Amino acid sequence: MIAYPPSQRDFDELVRAMNEGSSSHGAWRRLLIETPGTSAVRVREIIERKGGIVRLPASELRKVTTAHIHNAVQKLLSGGDAPNFAPSRDYDAFTDAGLPLAPKKVFGLALEEALGIEAYPGHFSAGWGQISFDLLEEAGLWITPKKEGVARPKPDPKKIELGLTGFVPTEEERSWIEGNPKIVSHLKRERAPGLAREKRAAFMAEHKRLFCEDCKFDPMEKYGPEAAAACIEVHHHRTHVANMEPGHKTSMEDLKCLCANCHRVLHRKLALGIAIPV
Ligand SMILES: [Zn+2]
Ligand SMILES: [Zn+2]
Repeated sequence: MIAYPPSQRDFDELVRAMNEGSSSHGAWRRLLIETPGTSAVRVREIIERKGGIVRLPASELRKVTTAHIHNAVQKLLSGGDAPNFAPSRDYDAFTDAGLPLAPKKVFGLALEEALGIEAYPGHFSAGWGQISFDLLEEAGLWITPKKEGVARPKPDPKKIELGLTGFVPTEEERSWIEGNPKIVSHLKRERAPGLAREKRAAFMAEHKRLFCEDCKFDPMEKYGPEAAAACIEVHHHRTHVANMEPGHKTSMEDLKCLCANCHRVLHRKLALGIAIPV
């Protein structure tokens, strides 16, 4: 005799009961289940475990602030997880320190805090131009496509022009900006009067010499102390700089001394979305 698990036994009993008085031994029957107060669509959602999750309206998604996103990043970096969301196959969202996170996990956690709900992938869309990506990038994360992701779309030239108000980029800078308009505010800030001079002075005071923090090139050795400063530039390495509140005072820690070569290459990579800002 086969020992059926209880559910199987119950099912057999049910089938037998339904077939009573007929010669049928068929197991397939339609069961009419009444669910007063709950629509058939909703029942279906529950059975299919969708739980009635629908895309949240933009007004709800926009309740996610930079602070929520920063908290989500902190949680993920300190070993927490967003288990409702699968690891990303298509995109990485890089933190200030160059650590890749799954954009949907970050936004999902931020959404949970913002709305006090349990967030699921069905609540929002991911991808270029979606609110989730816009807010993640506004909060300072840099999103780059992985192998299966879609390349960042070319920005609208009109929007680029608007972003250039009060700033005249070099031809090379313009090509970077066309690759990634976010870089405009970065370039603008780096050009702030006196900023580079101030940083170089602070760097000299600390290290007693100037060198590239990336490739360690020491221009003093090569060009002598008078001309050395000419090839050490100042790079703003805090990615959230683009969205700092107006009036934010750039701290010297936000800046990095780079040789002209490293700086140029870094900007180009940032524009192409192939570098992680460090
Ligand atoms: Zn260098
Ligand atoms: Zn720079």
